[in-house]
Parts: sequence; structure tokens; C-alpha cells
Amino acid sequence: MRGEDQSVSFPEGSIVIAEDISPSAAAVLEGCGVAGLVCEHASQTSHAAIMARAAGIPCVTDIAGLHGIFHGDEFVCIDADEGCVICEPDEDTLAIFEKKVKKQREYTAEARRTAKERIYFKDGRPFEILLNISSPKDCTADALEISDGIGLYRTEYLYMHSASIPNFETQKSEYEDLLRRAKGAPVTVRTLDIGADKQCPSIRSEHEENPALGLRGIRLCFERSDVFCEQLKALLAASPLGDLGVMFPMITGVSDLLRAREYLERAKSELRADGVVYNEKIRIGVMLELPSALIMADKIAELVDFASIVTNDLCQYTMAADRMNSRVSDYADPFSPAVLRLIHHAASEFSKRKKQLCVCGESASSPVSALLLAGLGVSSLSMSAPAVPYVKTALKNNDHDDLCRVARECLAMADAHEIRSLAEREFNI
Ligand code: PEP
Ligand code: MG
Repeated sequence: MRGEDQSVSFPEGSIVIAEDISPSAAAVLEGCGVAGLVCEHASQTSHAAIMARAAGIPCVTDIAGLHGIFHGDEFVCIDADEGCVICEPDEDTLAIFEKKVKKQREYTAEARRTAKERIYFKDGRPFEILLNISSPKDCTADALEISDGIGLYRTEYLYMHSASIPNFETQKSEYEDLLRRAKGAPVTVRTLDIGADKQCPSIRSEHEENPALGLRGIRLCFERSDVFCEQLKALLAASPLGDLGVMFPMITGVSDLLRAREYLERAKSELRADGVVYNEKIRIGVMLELPSALIMADKIAELVDFASIVTNDLCQYTMAADRMNSRVSDYADPFSPAVLRLIHHAASEFSKRKKQLCVCGESASSPVSALLLAGLGVSSLSMSAPAVPYVKTALKNNDHDDLCRVARECLAMADAHEIRSLAEREFNI
């Protein structure tokens, strides 16, 4: 499947089985009759899997050798929790599946009721739950009802779905649409973050041996400053319509941040010269995804209004484990003690300076790690809409001091599996 092919449709209840699928193709599976996705090569934190789950489509990854086994007319069951695919299940297996599905549906119905509540800890302190989206259309009334705003708008999909680079007017109207839909709720927009597995037809970069360590995110924007400035101008021009935060990806430290801010100032002065109005108080933030940036959290916190820890890439870069390579995905464990220590360090530095710190990677979507992240001191979590009911159910009515106590115990440990088990036991999950 290709990202350009946006008119796909399947018989209702289809399971799509692919060797691989691009993130932009996965993003358009919603409403196409697809009940599940199986990818031979992707991993659970690959962008294709993230997009499928965000569309409410269970996704099983890293199942080798499926190619050639299926012909298209088999009856297939998948269990994304267990990561398994069963072809032509017998009656007993089917009965087990049906029981599990029924239980899951009951739990989901209960959790959905909780999803509309705001989250407070026992001491009355609120905790924000925000949404990850890849299009303004994802910011629906239902989405706003279960969240406190948008924590991550991945703008690269606007570029990836388009044959040419979207111009100022196209982008401005897209961002205005999002801010209008958000009705005053905070909206955090990540500037263009392509490279590695997110390729964009109109912005071709040269072949790189190690694309995850190459010209991606802000680095590519610095090289294509024409594209970057156009996006910043469009964001600024849309900013009077709401509460907008702009967030830069792949920041290695203070010098990248200052350089990005210079481009923002340049964009502002070009708009002023053209008489275009913008909100001078637009919030500025960074994504903390490189260990170098988390280590420098004290200096970075002085220079921004907020930041978001993006655990998919943070795990990849801390543990030197390619998030696209399922053979090393065990290394990229969000419960790794090194990852937790980095998060705790950043959370302490941001909290000392009373700056907001969110987590918007996939680990925010897992109830047990959501509780641990809250205990580590982050101020909000951002996730795709389908995860909200489960995370809110786990978080509500918790004693924040208790979460901090468990987090401290976890920080003193050295093994990711032991940390996960302790957290599951303590949080009763
Ligand atoms: C992340 O890296 O955790 C993240 C949220 O960004 P993306 O998955 O889009 O790279
Ligand atoms: Mg990332």
C-alpha cells in the first residue's frame, strides 16, 4: 500500500495483512472496513502501527513469514494484546476469543464513561490528558469532550499526503481549521518532523546510511529553511484564532533551540512587513527525545514555555535500538532504568521552573506507565483518542504521593522487567 492511495476500501471486518505499510497509508485505514492490521516487519512503535492504533485498529507487528500463507478468503482472528494471529480458528479457540472480546467490550464501555471526566488526584490537583492527532479532522467534539486539548499535532502528515509542498495559504487554513475546532482549548503543533521512516514525496532527502541519526526533524528544517519559514509563518498567521503552542522536534540542545527561535523571529518580522497579524504570546516548546536534550533540561527549561517528552524516539536513542527494527525492540523498553532516570531529571528541572512538561510518546497510552510517568513528575500526558478511557480509568482518584513513592522505588532499580513488575504490582494493573 502507498500513502498516495487514499481511496482504499475493504469488505467490513477485513484484516489487512502486509509485509510492510507506510505511515501515511496506515493513517487512511480508518473507516475503510478494516478491523485489524498485521504487519510482518513493523514494530509496535513504528509510525505505521501508531497510526493504525490511533484509528482504533488493532495492530499486530513483527510476525515473520506470513507472506504467501494467506490468499484473502480465510477467516482470521488477531489478538493485538498477545501479538498473535490465528487462521481458521477451531470452535474452542473461537469461543475463547469471543469471551475475551465480550470482556474487553464491557471494560471499554465502563472506561468510556470515565473518559468524559477530568482527572484529579486525591489532593485535588488536576492532571491534564491531551490528544495526539495527525489531522485537524481528528479534533472532533467527541475528542474534545474526553481531553483537555491537543498535545501533539503531527504536521508532517499534511506534507506526506500532498504531492507538492503545501504553500502558506494551504497551511494557514489547515491550522486555522484546527484552532477553530479546538474552541479555545490548548493546541500544541509540532513543526515538520520528517526523515527516517516518515518520507515525504515533495521533500526528498539524499540516501543516508543511518537515517534515524541523519537529517531528520529540525535538522532537515534548518537545511530547508524556505520550507521551515513558510510553516512558521502559516502557524503565526493562524495563531490569533486560539491558544497555540509551537514545538520543535529533534532538538539536541540549546544551540538548536536558539537557532529554531531565530527562524521564528525571522518569520515574525516577514509577517510584520506584510502587515499580517499574529499572536506575540504564542507558546514555544521543544520535544525532548534525544538524551542530550534531556540531560540539558535545566538550560532548555529556561528558554521555553513547555516541552514534551517523546518516548518512542527517546527509547530508540537512549537504548541505541532502531524503533523500526522489531529484532531489537526489547531494548527500547520505556521501563528501562536509564530512560526513567532521564525523564525524572527533566521533570525535576521543569517543575523547579514551573514549566509544563508533557509526555506524548506511546508509553503515555499504557495505564501502568501513565501512572509511573505521573509519579516521575510530568504534568500531563498526550495520547491518541482510543487510549484515553483506559488511561483515565487508571489515573483517577490516585494519591499523587503514592505514585511518587512507587516512582522513587522504580528509580532505585536496575532492571526494566523488574521495574515493570513492581509498577504493575503496586498499581494493581
Ligand atoms: C515519539 O517519538 O515518541 C513521538 C511522539 O513522535 P513520533 O512517534 O511521531 O516520532
Ligand atoms: Mg518522534
